[in-house]
Amino acid sequence: MATNDPTRPVYVIGAGPGGLAVAAALRGRGVRAVVLEKADAVGDSWRHHYDRLRLHTTRRLSALPGLKMPRSFGRWVARADVVRYLEKYAQVHELEIVTGVEVSTVERADGDGWLLHATGGRRLTGRAVVVATGYNHTPYLPEWPGADSYTGTLLHAGQYRNPAPYAGKDVLVVGSGNTGAEIAVDLVDGGAGRVRLAVRTAPHILRRSTAGWPAQASGILVRRLPVPLVDRAAGAVARLSVPDLSDKGLPRPETGLYARVREGAIPVQDVGLIAAVQSGRVEPVAAVESFEGAKVVLADGSRISPEVVVAATGYRRALEGLVGELGVLDGRGRPTVHGGRTAPTAPGLYFTGFTNPISGMFRELAIDAEKIAKAVARS
Ligand SMILES: Cc1cc2nc3c(=O)[nH]c(=O)nc-3n(C[C@H](O)[C@H](O)[C@H](O)COP(=O)(O)OP(=O)(O)OC[C@H]3O[C@@H](n4cnc5c(N)ncnc54)[C@H](O)[C@@H]3O)c2cc1C
Repeated sequence: MATNDPTRPVYVIGAGPGGLAVAAALRGRGVRAVVLEKADAVGDSWRHHYDRLRLHTTRRLSALPGLKMPRSFGRWVARADVVRYLEKYAQVHELEIVTGVEVSTVERADGDGWLLHATGGRRLTGRAVVVATGYNHTPYLPEWPGADSYTGTLLHAGQYRNPAPYAGKDVLVVGSGNTGAEIAVDLVDGGAGRVRLAVRTAPHILRRSTAGWPAQASGILVRRLPVPLVDRAAGAVARLSVPDLSDKGLPRPETGLYARVREGAIPVQDVGLIAAVQSGRVEPVAAVESFEGAKVVLADGSRISPEVVVAATGYRRALEGLVGELGVLDGRGRPTVHGGRTAPTAPGLYFTGFTNPISGMFRELAIDAEKIAKAVARS
């Protein structure tokens, strides 16, 4: 059978926004796509994020191909509405989705196409495969010395839902990305007794919008400009719009905003962190080095005794098991291609959702979906 045998479907692994968008774009071009999802419903990542979460990209710039988000969702769409949107998206596009099926490995099929090994000993052969398993499904917890000896509660941000269980408690949030920053604010708003935020590298903080102009729109405009130019402009904007919080323990970052984005660090969109740090309700402290019983040892040598530690330390792509043998990952485990391009060693194997664009991930997923569908239809 040839790779472009139309009786074989294209398999899309993952029913998050990335996978659903690709499946819809393929269907739009008359290509049969089957989405395989390990959870029991679409949008699993968004079902499990913390309650307070809203998209920090605008409703209009976060819609996937072929379905607008309703105006009633407001400008900054709530987590539960993102889930509703993804359910509706799958329905409207009549997507073929098989839930409860986890793909463990992808390999070249004998002759042509791709062979997927999945739950229950399934062996599925597709003319092409799209990996859309997401950036954010395997929690990453650093191997802190002594973490096992910690007598308080240690949890990953992925397990955090809302502040209710932490009312009155002394909590340390580790990591000052968007998730750590927002959970710290959620905790103070929700009545935690004390909230500290452990910061290894001071983040870039942006106002989510300024005079109605969303930060994401600036990200879209500047994304093709030279990094030093964007860094200079972003530095000037930050000095005007974000107060100097150095005396509160949160200095301005030393490296430029776009240079950091290129390394994978998206700026923090302010949803209350600036005010909370200014008023002392969130106290920045040094990075976590290790644990000693009830104590947490910080990089500046100090020891503190929070009752709860929330590790907002990110996620892994965890692609090694799935496609690690195919020569398509770089030294950091990232796919070497995305969108409509495929690696020379792996024609017909596409990736979406593993970049970290300054212009917004939903928007990038939508763009990549069309590119992948076009490339598959052409092949
Ligand atoms: C807290 C947070 C806030 C974010 N906010 C925004 C925002 O405001 N705007 C924006 O544009 N982006 C945002 N992002 C980034 C990004 O848009 C989302 O993470 C988005 O969900 C990524 O979509 P995805 O389809 O690539 O991955 P996911 O949504 O993670 O979907 C991947 C799916 O694949 C499934 N899966 C994984 N492995 C397998 C396997 N082996 N077999 C079968 N199924 C598998 C998972 O169960 C999951 O359902 C945010 C991310 C996080 C973590």
